[in-house]
Amino acid sequence: MTAPERLREPLERLYRDFAYAERIERDAIRFPLRYDDPRDREIAALLTACLAYGRVDLFGAQLDAVLARIGAPYDFTMRFDARRDGDTFRDFIYRFNRPRDLVAFFVAARQILGRHGTLETCFVHGDPDPRGPIAPALEGFARAFLEAELGDVFRGRRLSRGYRHLFPLPSAGGPCKRLLLFLRWMVRREPPDFGLWTAVSPARLVIPVDTHVENMSRAIGLTRRKSRSWRMAEEITGRLGLIDSRDPVKYDFALCHKRMSGDCRDRRDPEVCEPCGLRVVCRHWAGRRDEGRSHA
Ligand code: SF4
Repeated sequence: MTAPERLREPLERLYRDFAYAERIERDAIRFPLRYDDPRDREIAALLTACLAYGRVDLFGAQLDAVLARIGAPYDFTMRFDARRDGDTFRDFIYRFNRPRDLVAFFVAARQILGRHGTLETCFVHGDPDPRGPIAPALEGFARAFLEAELGDVFRGRRLSRGYRHLFPLPSAGGPCKRLLLFLRWMVRREPPDFGLWTAVSPARLVIPVDTHVENMSRAIGLTRRKSRSWRMAEEITGRLGLIDSRDPVKYDFALCHKRMSGDCRDRRDPEVCEPCGLRVVCRHWAGRRDEGRSHA
């Protein structure tokens, strides 16, 4: 693992200099960013994050069609009636998910918003320790959706696999990348994130680990774990917290998009790696830091 004092400067530079505006249109965050009203953005963000598995252009095409149909997400949710409006999503199909999963999403969201007013209040309501780890609070939030009254959607109240897939539980040990991404958007105070959930501290966030963040984290010595899991996410976050304890997941967007954009190939490539500020801590260049550097 790389010592935090060696990581600090390269990571801070990556965070500070990253071309966020160029990458936002390639990121799922562009969907909730369309909405100015915080109530609309909150619902749009959760729906987007739940469906954010696979490539952005693939789930994005389906999500675009759903968002075009529902209009203002908050009003749509509060007026949603499964029997009357169930047909809204009849053409929706994306990998594990089918129309009734979206029907269930809006039924559950309507119940939760009716009870708590906002998703943030629901999250805080289920948070046993506002200064403690985020996992129990996220577990409670996911359970609010899984334990909603969904008898009108699922016969015998047996949830579909697709609906359960939308709300993974930290206690199951998976990385919960999509729900952690939603939290990052809502909680972090600096762009590109929204900072709408002021009752939750950014210091408690856990990094959403996808394949890109996993690769980058291994390359620069943030983890040695072999499989993507909640423990890997905690380990990476713990290392980043040694650099910035108040906002450890601030590096997520830049790390993810550096790899996703092809600016890192997760291997030693003199041309691609030449301008990379992480090279000084990259395992692919261990012992050969100067190779490929042009000398004036
Ligand atoms: S030095 Fe190369 S392989 Fe290492 S992080 Fe940078 S671009 Fe990726």
